[in-house]
Amino acid sequence: MSIRVLDAATIGRIAAGEVVERPTSVIKELVENALDAGSTSITIEVMDGGASFMRVTDNGCGIASNEVRMAFENHATSKITNAEDLGDIRTLGFRGEALSSIASVSKIELITRQRGAAFGVQMKLVGTEVQGFQEIGCAEGTTIIVRDLFFNTPARRGFLKKARYEAGLITELVARLMLGNPDVSIRFILNAKTHYQSMGDGQILHTAFAVYGREVAEGMSLIDESAGGLRIHGLIGVGDCERNNRSHQSFFINGRLVRCELLTRALEDACKGRVMASMHPMCALNVCLPPDSVDINVHPNKLEVRFRDEASVRMSLDELFERALNGDGMLNPLKYTEKIPPVYQRPEIEFNEGDKKKVNKTEVGDEQTEVQYKQTKVPSINDEPEEAEQIKQIVQSFPAKESTDLRESHAPAPLTVSKPEAVKKIPEAPRVPELGGDVPFKIHCVVFNTYVIVEIQDKILFIDQHAAHERLLYEKYKVMLEHNNAAQQLLTPLVIRVSKREMDLLIDNQSLLGEIGYEYEPFGESDIRMRAVPFVLGQADLQPQFMSMLEELDQLKAATLERRRNDIIRFACKRAVKSGDHLTQGELESLIQEMLYSNAPPTCPHGRPVVRTCTRSEIDRLFKR
Ligand code: ADP
Ligand code: MG
Repeated sequence: MSIRVLDAATIGRIAAGEVVERPTSVIKELVENALDAGSTSITIEVMDGGASFMRVTDNGCGIASNEVRMAFENHATSKITNAEDLGDIRTLGFRGEALSSIASVSKIELITRQRGAAFGVQMKLVGTEVQGFQEIGCAEGTTIIVRDLFFNTPARRGFLKKARYEAGLITELVARLMLGNPDVSIRFILNAKTHYQSMGDGQILHTAFAVYGREVAEGMSLIDESAGGLRIHGLIGVGDCERNNRSHQSFFINGRLVRCELLTRALEDACKGRVMASMHPMCALNVCLPPDSVDINVHPNKLEVRFRDEASVRMSLDELFERALNGDGMLNPLKYTEKIPPVYQRPEIEFNEGDKKKVNKTEVGDEQTEVQYKQTKVPSINDEPEEAEQIKQIVQSFPAKESTDLRESHAPAPLTVSKPEAVKKIPEAPRVPELGGDVPFKIHCVVFNTYVIVEIQDKILFIDQHAAHERLLYEKYKVMLEHNNAAQQLLTPLVIRVSKREMDLLIDNQSLLGEIGYEYEPFGESDIRMRAVPFVLGQADLQPQFMSMLEELDQLKAATLERRRNDIIRFACKRAVKSGDHLTQGELESLIQEMLYSNAPPTCPHGRPVVRTCTRSEIDRLFKR
């Protein structure tokens, strides 16, 4: 579609506001344009926090030479034609404002060649004024260089923070854009050093590897669930991956990076039993749903979104997260350790100015940069054949899970769970055999009355017996609940005095608590008569337990029913496990056996880890063997 200026009616319906707040906004807009252009390889370069120099190079469709000037007009876009299109946006851009806004506060150099065109063009602008336009030979695709951001608006320039801070923001943004686009090879060069480089093979695990490193990527779990017109797929990291802030959480809706409290809440609620209180899970998750059920025309930065039906989205998310996390078993810590060579290569390749070495075509596709960087050396994984080999090895060493390509859904067919075409051909990775119930293990001892030491394969596991017991109890209780037999009848009903507020709470939640195993009815004005309690509680201390459960319930008033149910179940289990218990060898064996081969997550229901692993090679290293 050609680039045209939108009509006044459409412009009037586009959320107004400033597009370019700081260097990150420029990077976001330029990379989104590159993605919309269908690029498979994008290079982002930033010097000193971006204010002095930013360059984004892509191998996308390019801009026709006769449309290059038009692209910098305000409200000029090739992505929508009228106001109706705003209800069904399938591209990242649609406002037609980014290039004009960026141009008005910087000095721009654009080099572009439309796919199939005989030649490209180069255009230079200083604050929207065209200062040079010529036809040139260049690779297909587009390069945009932005220099001296806010050179003509000193007040805004003064608002920028230190270069390190701005660079930090950009780095975080780029990490997210990479995780959202695992099928695009993205290289991020900060101050002339390659900071990140993704393969673009469509495997989000590999992208997480490039961004967060080996250990973190290994600790994350792939999820892919759909129901009710909604699909959620990507990576979640709990346990060792948890963080004390949310900078490692990335959410995408139909491939678009978003800031969305509803998603954050749903994830964190679902992870409650797997992440410690006050900590946050990591994630890179894409939610696909019909484009017309979400409004992205809310804010000029296009990060904010609004769901048409928040409640039903939240309900579907709760269900999907619950399902996804249930498959995340205790043995996860054992799964990858064997398979990845003990070298991690986030390729930190020096970028030597003046090194004229000709660049080879690389596996990640550098046709475009090859031309653009004639004067300087382009860092390339092919420059270091050994390193490239190592990267390939690592990529191959991941289990060949189904690709969870986040970007596939830019123009989503939202309800079908299609397997995306991988852009690059990487040989099939060997599957890691699932650990069945037959992997032998040996219980050595219990130390400090708390930690069970188990040898399995070439590892030592330290298992917190209380956390393990609590988790198993929790899982069993859940099964009982599913079968409606979580209650144990009391021989003599228990009469408990309650306050007016507690009575209201009890009446309001009678059916929820009934499901969980508490059966009671009001007994006069200020007493209740309890006939049954959750099986998992045993017989001791029923009344104090019940009262503190009520307190918990009071705090959960505003939570969804599902949330309240889960929290009360967790609460019951916590009460059921006594610390300092001495377990017999037989009890230990069945506990460990059950724990290792159940599908229970490797954390207690409150998020503390159940198991820590130490490999033989780690121990060997301690002894310098
Ligand atoms: P929008 O992305 O909202 O359409 P922009 O101002 O970002 O508006 O870009 C204007 C137009 O310029 C786009 O609609 C697109 O046609 C063209 N364009 C911008 N960047 C690129 C690129 N990297 N590759 C191809 N076309 C581009
Ligand atoms: Mg744009």
